[in-house]
Amino acid sequence: MNLVLLGPPGSGKGTLAKLLSSELKIPHISTGDILREETKLGTCLGKKVKPFMEKGELVPDQIILEVMKERIRKPDGQKGFLLDGFPRTIPQALGIDEMLKESTKSIDWVLKLDVSEDRVLKRLGGRWICSGCGAFFNLYTKPPQKELTCDFCGSKLYQRPDDAPEVILNRLKVYKEETLPIEEYYSKQGKLRKVNGELDPDSILKNVLNILQLKNK
Ligand code: AMP
Repeated sequence: MNLVLLGPPGSGKGTLAKLLSSELKIPHISTGDILREETKLGTCLGKKVKPFMEKGELVPDQIILEVMKERIRKPDGQKGFLLDGFPRTIPQALGIDEMLKESTKSIDWVLKLDVSEDRVLKRLGGRWICSGCGAFFNLYTKPPQKELTCDFCGSKLYQRPDDAPEVILNRLKVYKEETLPIEEYYSKQGKLRKVNGELDPDSILKNVLNILQLKNK
């Protein structure tokens, strides 16, 4: 099954993707994670995309499509995959359709996480991540016991540079302008399903599995 997760930054796509990917045993492919890893390693690609990411701008479609072309060819995705943060523009949606057509595949379902803007701002603005084990904390809703220190492994917490307030606002603006039109693209194909993204992660997972008619836990 080939799935796409849609939703504004901070809607919980990453959290749901991790749960769904282990439930359905298909890889979670996050373009944001791939690009962050490239910038961390300082590769040529990483250097190209860093300025866009720092400002909360989208990386040009051509670069993203090349990254995805390579990624979806890998053996782990042959039985399906879960895309998180891609496609983000109409040309990217057309691009993935073309790529999949070559191997007579297609996107099966697109799940949109509905979350209010207020909630998104709180989630992103309060998000701190453990530099050791990657655990997520939120200063408003799930604060660490000791200031800026991971409850699980004791490492320091850090904030993603693009979670700075002015960058968050730009990411939301870019989402509305560039990514929202994709909903209509998939809706016209009858593939879009909306999910309440304000529930707890396990309830969201349960609802999604129901929508996909896979399991009713
Ligand atoms: P994310 O972790 O999905 O919020 O992505 C972080 C940043 O990576 C975004 O703000 C963009 O700069 C870049 N990025 C990730 N995925 C894409 C994409 N599909 N198209 C363009 N830029 C992307």
